[in-house]
Amino acid sequence: MNKDIATPVRTKEILKKYGFSFKKSLGQNFLIDTNILKRIVEHANLTEESGAIEIGPGIGALTEQLAKSSKKVAAIEIDQRLLPILSDTLSPYNNVNIIHGDVLKADVKKVIEEEFAGFSDLMVVANLPYYVTTPIILKLLSEDLPIRGIVCMLQKEVADRIAAKPGTKEYGSLSIAIQYYTEAETVMIVPKTVFMPQPNVDSAVIRLTRRVKPIVEVLDEDFLFTVTRASFAQRRKTILNNLTSQLPDGKSKKELILAALEAAEVDPSRRGETLSIQEFGRLSDALLPNFK
Ligand code: SAM
Repeated sequence: MNKDIATPVRTKEILKKYGFSFKKSLGQNFLIDTNILKRIVEHANLTEESGAIEIGPGIGALTEQLAKSSKKVAAIEIDQRLLPILSDTLSPYNNVNIIHGDVLKADVKKVIEEEFAGFSDLMVVANLPYYVTTPIILKLLSEDLPIRGIVCMLQKEVADRIAAKPGTKEYGSLSIAIQYYTEAETVMIVPKTVFMPQPNVDSAVIRLTRRVKPIVEVLDEDFLFTVTRASFAQRRKTILNNLTSQLPDGKSKKELILAALEAAEVDPSRRGETLSIQEFGRLSDALLPNFK
């Protein structure tokens, strides 16, 4: 008998048993293909000593595979209706703890302290709810958590922007915000057919590996992100035009912006999408004294 949760038959059985109806507003698209799940977990390179943190376990499809491949899983689920289902479907596993809550409001650092004391390897692995993928990833990365990285399913379009290289049309402030903290790679493209219900968009799995050392040292991280967002405000404009129109009092401080661009060795007529993170780092430090 196939005990895996992630098959169409078993998933339908579980949903029927509990009279569960999907909530679109919570991004509930469950995985029904065990092979895809196993491949996702392989990309996380877990060992018997690893801890896995999952966001949104649903009915436990991915949680089950994580439980088999790691020492312990802690999973945060917002939908209370799923809690009795999870305690049933995951009852064969004694190394799983489900936490009821909204990951965006949760104190994840505290969760890690409580659930994973003494663990030396921690990974976040998730099939993310698509309505909040970027806020979740940015929260996990900016909170300086003791994790090796994140392997997650998300919309392919967002994966493309996260992993984009300078000079491409996908490269933007999101690429920089995430690549500042991690090395980002798309490791799988996933067809719609492996979900129930099928999402409207294409999906991909990305792996984000925390950098041991920041890609660039800056005086003020928040200001780096302010400068990058300003630089991409209107993609067709030059970096000079975007900075003068977006930074506070930018128009009256045009000379200072030009001087900062020169100090950072960035030609004012370039577009934001051509600048590397290192160049944005130099520019941010050069602008900082006059704009923050
Ligand atoms: N992991 C399951 C799977 O792969 O089949 C379910 C993935 S489904 C795409 C996303 C899950 O995240 C749902 O179970 C949903 O209820 C949950 N969720 C949505 N928003 C959340 C939030 N803010 N915090 C925690 N869980 C959330």
